[in-house]
Amino acid sequence: MDKKKPVQLRPYNKTRYVYQKLRVCKHCHNFTILWEDSCAYCKRNALVPVMELAEKMAKRSMQSDRLLFYIIGLSAVLLSQTFLQIVISFACMVVLLAWLWLIQRRVLHSETLYALNKLIRSHQKQIHEGLDLNKATASAAIKEDAQLGYEIVREIASLVRNDRIRLQQIVLLQSFSLRKDMELELEPLLLDEFDPDLAAYIGEIAKIKRELISSKAIQYLLEHESSILRMEQGRQIMIDAAGAAVRKKKYIDTFPDFISRYADGLPRYRFLRLYQIVRRNPGLSWNGLRDRVSAIYNEHYRSDPDFQKWD
Ligand SMILES: [Zn+2]
Repeated sequence: MDKKKPVQLRPYNKTRYVYQKLRVCKHCHNFTILWEDSCAYCKRNALVPVMELAEKMAKRSMQSDRLLFYIIGLSAVLLSQTFLQIVISFACMVVLLAWLWLIQRRVLHSETLYALNKLIRSHQKQIHEGLDLNKATASAAIKEDAQLGYEIVREIASLVRNDRIRLQQIVLLQSFSLRKDMELELEPLLLDEFDPDLAAYIGEIAKIKRELISSKAIQYLLEHESSILRMEQGRQIMIDAAGAAVRKKKYIDTFPDFISRYADGLPRYRFLRLYQIVRRNPGLSWNGLRDRVSAIYNEHYRSDPDFQKWD
């Protein structure tokens, strides 16, 4: 991408349950993961969150249970032959109904989730069709407004997980100028295949959000190392990722050869971090990484005062 666009992405709301963001049209049962006001299919203002619908379903089934209790209790009252029996039957009915009501209140949430699960299972086809409609909206938006397109694809990706969607997200992200304060992700975007946009994205993340460089991301870089090194900025991507990895000893333990290969390219403050970890662990050689770090230290940082404080 030649010119990166500055963007202000809308915050992304993560939900506890995957399907929680879906809304369904009360009129035509079209599903959507997006935030439009009216149904994209029948154009009516009839979209309700699936959670709301599931809660209604759960309440309705609870109501029928209460009705059944009520009928049984009432029959007992009607069949009673003495006044005492009437009083006892009536009292039992009231106590049981109150008890049932209390229990139902307590289980409403789990019953709602159960109803949601049933709703999703029985509407698989409609959900797929709804998401297809959402994808068409995304494709149209991408052409007009890349930022809106990305936000739409990001929502779809919470339900549709495949490489095509991931790639679409990566390409769009690579057209933006990324900043530290943005809500970015890496692991969910990792592909199986080599992709130069993804490699470049990892390189940027390594600079602005080091904490996202995890074992999986490093493994991706190592699997495709030779292809990445053929990229113009390939070596720098590997160096930046190594610089992010040295924030934790566990990555040095797991990938000592990788860090060793790129240690001489690390900027001073990242090398300092690596040097400190190496000094604090005198018993570990990390397959030659220790010697490599010593050699770089001797060559460049011997007289650097910061390198004398490592504990
Ligand atoms: Zn509709």
